[in-house]
Amino acid sequence: MWQDPAMAIDFSFPPEVEDVRQRVRAFVDEEVRPGEQRLAAEGAGRADWRATLQALRASARDQGLWLPHMPAEWGGMGLGPTALAAVSAELAKARMGPYVVNCYAPDEGNMHTILHWGTAEQKERYLRPLTEGSTRSCFAMTEPEVAGSDPTLMQSRAIRDGSDWVIDGHKWFVSGARGASFAIVIARTEDEPPVPQAATSAFLVDIPTGGFEIVRDVETMSGSHNHCEIRMSGVRVPEEALLGGRGQGHRLGQYRLGPARLAHCMRWIGQAEAALDMMVERATSRYAHGSYLADKQGIQWLISESAIELYQAKLMVLHAAYRIEASLPFLTEVSMAKHHVANTLWRICDRAVQVHGALGYSRDSPLSEMLLQARWSRFADGADEVHKWRVAEAAIEAWRASGTTRAATGDLPL
Ligand SMILES: Cc1cc2nc3c(=O)[nH]c(=O)nc-3n(C[C@H](O)[C@H](O)[C@H](O)COP(=O)(O)OP(=O)(O)OC[C@H]3O[C@@H](n4cnc5c(N)ncnc54)[C@H](O)[C@@H]3O)c2cc1C
Repeated sequence: MWQDPAMAIDFSFPPEVEDVRQRVRAFVDEEVRPGEQRLAAEGAGRADWRATLQALRASARDQGLWLPHMPAEWGGMGLGPTALAAVSAELAKARMGPYVVNCYAPDEGNMHTILHWGTAEQKERYLRPLTEGSTRSCFAMTEPEVAGSDPTLMQSRAIRDGSDWVIDGHKWFVSGARGASFAIVIARTEDEPPVPQAATSAFLVDIPTGGFEIVRDVETMSGSHNHCEIRMSGVRVPEEALLGGRGQGHRLGQYRLGPARLAHCMRWIGQAEAALDMMVERATSRYAHGSYLADKQGIQWLISESAIELYQAKLMVLHAAYRIEASLPFLTEVSMAKHHVANTLWRICDRAVQVHGALGYSRDSPLSEMLLQARWSRFADGADEVHKWRVAEAAIEAWRASGTTRAATGDLPL
């Protein structure tokens, strides 16, 4: 039989990545999820959750499971994007998982941003304590008055005053703002930028700072989760607070969002798999009309559609991560993955609720919260429509350049 000796497509991980994936899985199964379930069963208060988080963090550090996304010189595990995909999906099977290893939004993206754009002083002052887990941060870009999907419309302003900058503006949905020790604030600094995308800059703003007011924790459809409204009135910061140079706010946001979008996808895959597991567990144990739900074709279709979509989602995320790791263009692949995984998560959670009936709709099951959380994945970090627009642009551009759309469908050797 003819064999291709140069066959290079291999979906297994190297032994050291497989080892870390298995260790993370065991840690989540044996420590994180049981801890979470105990707290939920006891109806524990905030202090108990915090104490458990600290204990789990100590255990994670002891096992070398800390900061999977950061390089070793910053105390991290130094995983590349594909290995990170595997580990993040395992972590997301428990709600606290990403927090326990200090790899959750928005701190994860902020760490990457400061690592890439920060000066040595900024890294010591802001990044160091974040990596140690002694502080938290937030990222303030979206404004209630203008479409967050189009950052060129941003109205918050920073004006030069001597060697300082003075910031005025209004932001909302600033995740993690309460309790954060600083914010990365994006504000307009340029009146006549060469391109509209070069009008904004990023600033590191200490919290508290005079004029920086957390107005409220915006209540969402799933309750209050520290997504805050913020008003900035005459917030004065020194020159050294500028992160990444004047007019770089949009670039910095894009740099942050590319891999951060994929990091969300990795966690969503873990959540989608948890929902599918629950769907199948319920279907195989719930009896109605003469058989288990799992024996009914209508339910099998829900299961099979979910399995097919989740398989697609995993392939897309792995391939986009591979392209980032191989320094290949990745924006179209990340857009496609982000759109597909977000919608897959939503559909699988919805189907899992359906199979669980009243239990799925109740707070007795985690599915109701998972479904509500899944809803924002379809518009935050790039709305479905914007990603589809970008994907269509890439397909049209590829066709114009080469007479085929092949390069815009993952540029695979097929
Ligand atoms: C849970 C959560 C956490 C968040 N955390 C943060 C955070 O930490 N920091 C931060 O700055 N922001 C954060 N956000 C805000 C988020 O980034 C914005 O919601 C997102 O960018 C969309 O902006 P918008 O809400 O203003 O919607 P809009 O821009 O007003 O868009 C609304 C809808 O318009 C449609 N639309 C927009 N553009 C197009 C187009 N070109 N073509 C077709 N349709 C279009 C889409 O359907 C879109 O959903 C968070 C949001 C949520 C829900």
